Amino acid sequence: MAGNIMLTFVKVPRDMPSKRDAEARREDFSEIYREFAAAKASEQASRCSQCGVPFCQTHCPLHNNIPDWLKLTAEGRLREAYELSQATNTFPEICGRICPQDRLCEGNCVIEQSGHGTVTIGAVEKYITDTAWEQGWVQPIRPRAERAESVGIIGAGPGGLAAADFLRRAGVQVTVYDRYDRAGGLMTYGIPGFKLEKDIVMRRNAQLTDGGITLRLNCTVGEDVGFEDIRASHDAVLIATGVYKTRELGGPGAGLGGIVKAIDYLTASNRKGFGDAVPEFDSGELDAMGKAVVVIGGGDTAMDCVRTAVRQGATSVRCLYRRDRANMPGSQREVANAEEEGVEFVWLTTPRGFIGEGTVAGVRVARMRLGAPDSTGRQAPEEIPDADYTEPAGLVIKALGFEPEDLPGLWGCPELAVTRWGTIKADFDTKETSLPGVYAVGDIVRGASLVVWAIRDGREAAESILRVFDRKASMAAE
Ligand SMILES: Cc1cc2nc3c(=O)[nH]c(=O)nc-3n(C[C@H](O)[C@H](O)[C@H](O)COP(=O)(O)OP(=O)(O)OC[C@H]3O[C@@H](n4cnc5c(N)ncnc54)[C@H](O)[C@@H]3O)c2cc1C
Ligand code: SF4
Repeated sequence: MAGNIMLTFVKVPRDMPSKRDAEARREDFSEIYREFAAAKASEQASRCSQCGVPFCQTHCPLHNNIPDWLKLTAEGRLREAYELSQATNTFPEICGRICPQDRLCEGNCVIEQSGHGTVTIGAVEKYITDTAWEQGWVQPIRPRAERAESVGIIGAGPGGLAAADFLRRAGVQVTVYDRYDRAGGLMTYGIPGFKLEKDIVMRRNAQLTDGGITLRLNCTVGEDVGFEDIRASHDAVLIATGVYKTRELGGPGAGLGGIVKAIDYLTASNRKGFGDAVPEFDSGELDAMGKAVVVIGGGDTAMDCVRTAVRQGATSVRCLYRRDRANMPGSQREVANAEEEGVEFVWLTTPRGFIGEGTVAGVRVARMRLGAPDSTGRQAPEEIPDADYTEPAGLVIKALGFEPEDLPGLWGCPELAVTRWGTIKADFDTKETSLPGVYAVGDIVRGASLVVWAIRDGREAAESILRVFDRKASMAAE
């Protein structure tokens, strides 16, 4: 072979983070690593200048007390740092891993803005909380006193569970209903395991149930139990059902086999990670192994799909997006991760239709260019005539975003007011909906958003519900 260069396609193992993620998140828990991570966290924490204008804190949706827990970490007072960070956040170890910090706390760090590189706040938050778990400082909730009131929460994602946590800390009786067999919402079945390890989510779920929160899993509200039955069983109800309706693709051949929804694809992959029987995966329908994969969309869900397909052993992975790189909604860090792993982005393209007999064999692709700005100020993509081509594909994944399900229709409750986008209308401050005693939080109110915003909403809904309970209790006592 002298003189020849042999190129080998190296398969990325299923749960393997990219080099970049691995470096940022330090996922190896060996003794040497622990010492290194402790030194690194302390070094990063000491870099905080305690500037007195904590933009990091104001730009963290939870308004976490970042400067103070950085200071405690720098002083080696990790337990106090943990107590402070968990006071405002049900899932600090998860936010430390998956918040887009570059757009939130770290992007607004004063040191970053002076050109010296941000304090890696997310990594420190993760380190503090992982240490708290290892040291046994994370204990089940033990309220000072039990309260008689009960709250029914529909949806065990971060929004519902954060509300459950804060209500339970105050002694309220909480039941969370979810249609899935495991709690965690998209943290469990949407976000891939290489970004968020599932044992981390399951450990937190167990801590919440050990603290007295009741989970009713495999329970679809509207089918297994009526919405009005839940209202009748509790003093207040919180809706935190997320958004799951996939935006569809049209065009000839759109109904062919092998064209699948991102949420089905990612859920199947996560279920395999749990060791579940997943017939649609085992049959090959939702497995990218040995296939030319085309993912359509430019958001973070599309990035998770392309990176999952690489790990499953796809022969090629291409991502079609109708705008250019600068205008894509997904995080640039995720694009860089995907490119590093061999994903090819085909900018300024959109599917016109699909070819194949029974099963998809290719995507008819139209080329685009950016035209005049539309009403939102963004340049609108327009088709270039006579420039279509065919992209070979054995699996096409639709990752064009999510819309809310029609909850008032599904639950036979037309009085539940929704916006023109179908999201639930809820008061900005109190989170109360058009129905008295019914609150709503997270993606079902905001549209597809972030874990950290769902947690913030859940915390605020809990505070609002507690204010009402307290007011009623004091009126009853008069
Ligand atoms: C692929 C993917 C990757 C993402 N990656 C990130 C990331 O890296 N960082 C980040 O911050 N955010 C990320 N997000 C967004 C984040 O996951 C969501 O914003 C967040 O989970 C919303 O929380 P939620 O509690 O509102 O809803 P969800 O997490 O969607 O939870 C809703 C729960 O309600 C249940 N439910 C729905 N309807 C019913 C019903 N009728 N009866 C009973 N239960 C019901 C569902 O089963 C689910 O468990 C990602 C999203 C996706 C899809
Ligand atoms: S919750 Fe997210 S935004 Fe807030 S400090 Fe942690 S990583 Fe930053």
